[in-house]
Amino acid sequence: MSKFENLGLNESLLSAITDMGFETPSEVQEKAIPILLEDETDLVALAQTGTGKTAAFGFPLIQKIDVASRTTQALILSPTRELCLQIAKEMEAYSKYEKGLNIVAIYGGASITDQARQIKRGAQIVVATPGRMKDMIGRGMVDITKIDYCVLDEADEMLNMGFYEDIKDILSNTPKEKSTWLFSATMPKEVATIAKKFMHQPKEITVGSKNSGANTVQHEYYVVGGRDRYAALKRLADANPGIFSVIFCRTKRDTQKIAEKLIEDGYNAGALHGDLSQNQRDLAMNAFRKKQIQMLVATDVAARGIDVDDVTHVINYQLPDEIETYTHRSGRTGRAGKSGISMVIITRSEIRKIRAIEKKIQTKFLEKNIPSGMEICE
Ligand code: ADP
Ligand code: MG
Repeated sequence: MSKFENLGLNESLLSAITDMGFETPSEVQEKAIPILLEDETDLVALAQTGTGKTAAFGFPLIQKIDVASRTTQALILSPTRELCLQIAKEMEAYSKYEKGLNIVAIYGGASITDQARQIKRGAQIVVATPGRMKDMIGRGMVDITKIDYCVLDEADEMLNMGFYEDIKDILSNTPKEKSTWLFSATMPKEVATIAKKFMHQPKEITVGSKNSGANTVQHEYYVVGGRDRYAALKRLADANPGIFSVIFCRTKRDTQKIAEKLIEDGYNAGALHGDLSQNQRDLAMNAFRKKQIQMLVATDVAARGIDVDDVTHVINYQLPDEIETYTHRSGRTGRAGKSGISMVIITRSEIRKIRAIEKKIQTKFLEKNIPSGMEICE
């Protein structure tokens, strides 16, 4: 088994890694870190959700930054504000012993002038959502014309969310001579296009099969009558008292409604969707992280990239339109080698959608029955 000590990382990173309790590198880390440390190269890395991609680019990036200089040397683009904050926080932990390194997260929904001020103080690493980044470039609040590194994290998610044009504009403001590192769970056409257009002979690494979901996740579906969805959800929660789950709905309205109903019915639930203020979203995320909320009802957009350990169940209250979205949803559980269950509540007419997902992720679903009252009492 390989060790962090053998990947070429410096002492301060190794100490931080020990503090974080990481024992051995994950596969994507083992493959990406030596390449990124050694060469100035472009890289495309494909690995499922939860395989430790943040550290795979974060460790080498921190080691390569010149802390003696205060100019912005690296830009990390990431799809959502939650994810930007999370990456920045992780990078802070990685660089705990790296004096003089400043990391700033910039994203919509918070004061742009505050963020501009933080950058002005000298941030070598900027973690940004494409929308806010573009805005700040337009206003001359950030200078990325001298960066050495550009990381496109969760590239498939960013493109799914329609950020192609923004990314293109942002990249056109960066120097030609730089390294671009693209990390993604899947490789849809749009990601391949970005790689082809904006990267130079990238090295490629792939962990696991490109389209499969995390194999530590068991997939189950429950067939119910259309009007019984909510009752089924409650039964599933009752049958799993230790449940710590993300419940996916298709719309912001449904998300809010289901969360409210659950709370009314005495469940430990919360909502996360784009109609909430940034403050409300932060509160919900923090409460979930601290497990004060057991069931977080969320839209796909709001839940993107969220990394909360120990999620036991992902519940698809409604199936998403895109199969790739299902892969991302189920990737919220079974993280870092733990096991998890992804449940889908469907009506009979939706079984064919399950078959399509099975084909794509090359994993069979178990057909299960909603537990009856008796089973729950046992
Ligand atoms: P991804 O971006 O691939 O979805 P993350 O970078 O968010 O995955 O990592 C998922 C989780 O695994 C995080 O909680 C992270 O702290 C943890 N993790 C990452 N690398 C390791 C490791 N080598 N050992 C143990 N835990 C790790
Ligand atoms: Mg990630």
